[in-house]
Amino acid sequence: MKLSKMHLKTLREVPTEAEISSHILLLRANMIRKLVSGVYGFMPLGNRVLRKIEAIVREEMDAKGAQEILMSAVQPAELWQESGRWDAYGPELWRIKDRHDRDFCLGPTHEEIFTDIARNEINSYRQLPQNLYQIQTKYRDEKRPRFGLIRSREFIMKDAYSFDKDWEGLDKSYQEMYDAYERIFTRCGLTFRAVEADSGAIGGSNSHEFCALSEIGESQIAYCEHCDMAATDERAACVDEAMPQEEELAMEEVLTPGTKSIEDLCKFLQIDEKKTIKALLFEVFNIPKYKYVAAFVRGDRELNMIKLVNALDIPEHDIDFADEAAMGEQTGCVGGFTGPTGLHDCTIVVDSELIGAKNMVAGACKVDHHIKNVNYGRDYKADIVADLKMIKEGDPCPKCGAPVKMARGIEVGQVFKLGTKYSESMHAYFKDENMNEKPLIMGCYGIGVTRTMSAIVEQHHDDNGIIWPVSVAPYHVIITLVNSKDETQCALAEELHDTMLARGMEVILDDRDERAGVKFKDADLMGIPVRITVGKKACDRIVEYKLRRDAASVDKTAEEAVEEAVAFIEANRRG
Ligand code: ATP
Ligand code: MG
Repeated sequence: MKLSKMHLKTLREVPTEAEISSHILLLRANMIRKLVSGVYGFMPLGNRVLRKIEAIVREEMDAKGAQEILMSAVQPAELWQESGRWDAYGPELWRIKDRHDRDFCLGPTHEEIFTDIARNEINSYRQLPQNLYQIQTKYRDEKRPRFGLIRSREFIMKDAYSFDKDWEGLDKSYQEMYDAYERIFTRCGLTFRAVEADSGAIGGSNSHEFCALSEIGESQIAYCEHCDMAATDERAACVDEAMPQEEELAMEEVLTPGTKSIEDLCKFLQIDEKKTIKALLFEVFNIPKYKYVAAFVRGDRELNMIKLVNALDIPEHDIDFADEAAMGEQTGCVGGFTGPTGLHDCTIVVDSELIGAKNMVAGACKVDHHIKNVNYGRDYKADIVADLKMIKEGDPCPKCGAPVKMARGIEVGQVFKLGTKYSESMHAYFKDENMNEKPLIMGCYGIGVTRTMSAIVEQHHDDNGIIWPVSVAPYHVIITLVNSKDETQCALAEELHDTMLARGMEVILDDRDERAGVKFKDADLMGIPVRITVGKKACDRIVEYKLRRDAASVDKTAEEAVEEAVAFIEANRRG
């Protein structure tokens, strides 16, 4: 490919909307273009990268016997109503109507569609196990689309669905996908961790997230260096700290003017945060059995929202912080001074650690007042007791007790054991060996293909641009022709281009009528793994050979440069 003929418009300036390296560089290198917030198109170079990632995904999925199909993005509401998710999914679901006023959505995921296929086309245990997948465009009307391809509203996902006749079969299907994912992300050049995860709105019992390690990642990972514990912070179980077994003292109301925060309260009373109870107030929508919820954790702890919604068994989007004044009228809570003893007509959810904590200080549900010596059981009771805590660096590992470490990651894939959630609600049954009707046992497995592209750039770049791993690079080699008016240089550059093309390399020849500096800058920005520069020494058939990841270049004969480039690419092209 000659660059003079290629559609390429690199940008010198940093686009204003882009905050993180991958977003900036993908835009600057003309890999992607924004249409509207959270909606991107792929330009020639970006499209090639995308196809390479997809090819890796396909190879590894096919190697596990999964079969590729392609379903529509448009999904009828009826299927979502059957599974119960038309209401449960919330505003992220991109709902549309046809001219007859019928409801549809643009699929954010395809459990309903694949379950529908299975119930119509799988009748017998003889057809099992099966794993069907697609690489297809998904839509999620995200609240805050950001970071370019990392959180967009339209994105490409590989989604796979496995169907088994029993739970052992599901375990095996799940493990195969887990193994395939490890290979896929390794081949994409990512440094990642597979961690236990919450199964969220999809439902189901068991799940792992694959997180590409990165400071800009939205997933917080807790892991242990002494055992194999690794989980998202949302999921990681917390160990309750054993508190001293004091004698229960009588409750005592104290004046604590203006002490709305735990910090102020502890300063004022000269006590440790661990002796206090923190209240968090919520309102629940659309769920008849709940209205207001007060959650309590120890003063030094942070509330884990996922654990709270799991304890309540409600969707995350049906709960929000309460309007304290409105909640106060019904329940007696008082902003900044709420404690568990003065509340009525609301659901009280208490962190398990507070059960054994003696003589705590809590809000008095009265302005400028707290109560000392509050004890669980004697002074207040919970509607629900659960682990509500957010794990933090240094907390004891829930498996072995060693201090946990925290890291950030970009969730590039997730695998779920769905079990019978969809096969029961949508009646996807098969006949077993004894002609008994049984629900299909399902798993589902997603990879954010476009998000993976960004994650690769996050991990592989420098100040000058992208440094693509060979396995996903848009081209393998760029030949930079220093002076496109010099016939000797042109001839050698063309010769190198043709030779390498004949050797199966993907080559670009930068034959543009530009200054050498501009060409070098663009080559660095695009991140092509090998650069061969044809300049003044062309008359002696000497060229400069440089890997994008290295700082220095080396003079070589044209023949040596070709051999070295071919050997390097061949060794790395599969990743
Ligand atoms: P997140 O927690 O980041 O919102 P999710 O857990 O809802 O993601 P899944 O339903 O597990 O996402 O979807 C499978 C994969 O699709 C994710 O692992 C991720 O790589 C990708 N993905 C999900 N949402 C987006 C998005 N808005 N933009 C780009 N990729 C996405
Ligand atoms: Mg996920």
